[in-house]
Amino acid sequence: MNIDVNLVTGQPSGSMAPLATEPPNIRSVGIIGAGQMGNGIAHVCALAGLPVTIVDIKQDALSKAMTIMGRNLARQVNRSIISSDQRDEALALVSTSTEYAALGTVDLVIEAATEKEDVKRIVFKALIPNLKPSCLVASNTSSISITRLGAATDRPEKFIGMHFMNPVPVMKLVEIIRGIATDEPTFQAVRNLAQKLGKVSAVSEDFPAFIVNRILVPMINEAVYALYEGVGSVSAIDTSMKLGANHPMGPLELADFIGLDTCLSIMQVLHEGLADSKYRPCPLLVKYVEAGWYGRKTGRGFYDYTQTPPRPTR
Ligand code: NAD
Repeated sequence: MNIDVNLVTGQPSGSMAPLATEPPNIRSVGIIGAGQMGNGIAHVCALAGLPVTIVDIKQDALSKAMTIMGRNLARQVNRSIISSDQRDEALALVSTSTEYAALGTVDLVIEAATEKEDVKRIVFKALIPNLKPSCLVASNTSSISITRLGAATDRPEKFIGMHFMNPVPVMKLVEIIRGIATDEPTFQAVRNLAQKLGKVSAVSEDFPAFIVNRILVPMINEAVYALYEGVGSVSAIDTSMKLGANHPMGPLELADFIGLDTCLSIMQVLHEGLADSKYRPCPLLVKYVEAGWYGRKTGRGFYDYTQTPPRPTR
């Protein structure tokens, strides 16, 4: 029998590939990191009826995540997207902890901690001894090699990239990325979960920043260069791309929404991983991150969010 093998991953590809084992059914989820992505992933998992435990090192991040999730679910009730019973049932399924031991019984952990490889390595080192042997581990990383992150765990065959888009309750796509060692049941289990969450999945090979951010973040970096070189002001650049390219958000507004620290980390991964100077991060982006101006989440980036409406900072 001919088995179609993906030349990059070495894995069988396509729907005809036989499955040695049935994919595990994911009945509970742990999430590491209670930031904007962690709370969004918890939101969609709980709405799909899955018990969710969120772990963060900061108690205040966990409290904030619960507040934001409650607010976002209430907004969905007001827009008649869900009922108030669904909101209450979803909130009742979410628990939080500052201890990895709380994840001892979950079927899947989705890591959504800060976009820094050393942070993620610290997370996996502390996390792994607490997991049951069959637990799958996914990373929501925007750019870091899934193969390398998987190799930092005891279970690279059960390790996979599951890249949600921001804001998670609204955005339809999940990129799924196999590492070189990821096995087929893990891939199928995560793809089934994405479907259960109402998402459409797209498969990306394990190259720096995968598909969406390989294309999107260099565009944002170019917008920061345009600002840095004085081609246009913040408003002129965002207005141009909204009205001239029909983008729903301008690139600088979008950068603030993603987080300038995350945008910079993605550019650094592209620059180092692809060794091409076209991916060099704009010095102005570096400066904003050095100043702690990360965008919306810190109240200031290319816009000042303490003003209503947010005022451009350049
Ligand atoms: P964020 O800064 O909002 O949140 C990160 C959270 O991780 C913080 O609450 C922090 O306290 C926590 N954290 C840090 N170290 C930890 C540790 N050792 N243990 C537990 N928690 C820890 O970041 P975010 O925007 O939610 O991004 C999280 C991940 O999702 C990153 O990998 C990022 O690349 C990815 N991602 C982000 C976006 C986006 O638009 N922001 C989109 C898709 C994917």
